[in-house]
Amino acid sequence: MTTTTFAAAHIAGEARAGSAERVHAAVDPSTGQTIAEVPIADASMVHAAVVSAQSAFDNWADTTPVERDTMLNALADRLIDHQQELGDLEARNTGKPRGVAFDEVAGAAEQLRFFGGAARVLEGKAAREYVAGRTSFIRRDPVGVIGQITPWNYPLVMAAWKIGPALAAGNTIVLKPSELTPLSTLRLAELTADILPPGVLNVVAGDGSTGAALSGHPGIDMVCVTGSVGTGQHVLRAAAERVKRTHLELGGKAPVMVFPDADFARLAETLKVASFWNSGQDCTAACRLLVQDNAYDDLMAALVPAVASLRVGGPFEADAMDMGPVISAAQRDRVTGFIDRASSAGADIVIGGSATGPAGYFVEPTIIGNVGADAEIVRSEVFGPVITVQRFSDEQEALSMANGVDYGLSASVWTENLGRSLRLARKLQFGAVWLNDHLTVADEMPHGGYKMSGYGKDLSTYAIEDYTVVKHVMARID
Ligand code: NAD
Repeated sequence: MTTTTFAAAHIAGEARAGSAERVHAAVDPSTGQTIAEVPIADASMVHAAVVSAQSAFDNWADTTPVERDTMLNALADRLIDHQQELGDLEARNTGKPRGVAFDEVAGAAEQLRFFGGAARVLEGKAAREYVAGRTSFIRRDPVGVIGQITPWNYPLVMAAWKIGPALAAGNTIVLKPSELTPLSTLRLAELTADILPPGVLNVVAGDGSTGAALSGHPGIDMVCVTGSVGTGQHVLRAAAERVKRTHLELGGKAPVMVFPDADFARLAETLKVASFWNSGQDCTAACRLLVQDNAYDDLMAALVPAVASLRVGGPFEADAMDMGPVISAAQRDRVTGFIDRASSAGADIVIGGSATGPAGYFVEPTIIGNVGADAEIVRSEVFGPVITVQRFSDEQEALSMANGVDYGLSASVWTENLGRSLRLARKLQFGAVWLNDHLTVADEMPHGGYKMSGYGKDLSTYAIEDYTVVKHVMARID
């Protein structure tokens, strides 16, 4: 892989080379080796992409739902035709196990297919005479040109979550992937250039400066970001100037509420995945265990051996690994910094706790006990393979601990008591609540947060609605 492989942007279906002076290295996190250098698109390139999306808008908005469905399915087919290539590219750029990256390509394709079909079944209020002599009806019109900014944890899947609903609703797009993991999205743009009309989907590579140029551009009608709270706040400030619509999928700090009647074997098996999938770099990761005092020993007896059994290694190792590295040296140091400060403050490192591996950015799967509700590691998003365990005495205390953080993306409750689980599902301030499960996502169901985890939904028909403007049309009929 060389610098010439990747463009700075794909605009109106054509690759655009950027300046050789401003590049960002794409690194294989399992080795620390640079695998490509991708130019950073500057403000003039962002402008060209926005103009391209503006010129494509009217014709794209005029396509019928079935035409958009057909094209979204063609995009999905193209991903599947290149599943191995895209999966390998993703595995190399993120460090996740090769088989997982391969499956993610299939997931992204399936999500595009869902949104294609969903474009054809948007629902609305009945047209009716709400005022005598006048017929009212609702239109759901596309918003216009959408600026979309994606993170590094699931690069291709996050692109599909953004592209699918926006195109299904009749919008055109300028999408910016993370500077750490731009390769699969740039390749997606290249592979699909002959499917969509020129300008409908434009991709610009770059860092926060490119994202800022995009969110502040006056030709962008709506800005959508999946990323950290800080980035969401930057985007909100940029959007305020022209009162742009925003759609924010930000961080999480998911509580896992464990009661003594939980199925501990199932819980431990679930957490091996839910806490450590993608090396814990998942906004819904089960990272904050809350356990009733008298269930603490049962939980640990099941959990510690399960976590100890996780296999950590690079994406292309002969045996399939459960977990790869974290994304960068900075992220490794950030994660181990949280662990070290927790340890210095008196927390117990039950298992793991250190960086590991001869090369690359690996962190051991880690369980931390004896932490208080105010501890930094309990309140901040670590975004690594780390779980904390806290004790509670009763349901009310558990609820206030669960809700007592700034985030509100997802939570789970583990009990056989149906009344308790439904009571808690009602009171938990999180956009997704699992009962005796954690992490499972369905394309048909919405994903999005409460509180500082942001607002707006990815996946489901709610996502398409977010990419539309509701318009009331009233006609005199008397
Ligand atoms: P990040 O905020 O550092 O970067 C996200 C994207 O924003 C990148 O493309 C980046 O280049 C861009 N960006 C950075 N500064 C910007 C600015 N000033 N203006 C516009 N764009 C800017 O996030 P990350 O480190 O890539 O991803 C991890 C974060 O994403 C975590 O907080 C995680 O919880 C969150 N996340 C949330 C969800 C969700 O659905 N809620 C899903 C995945 C990740």
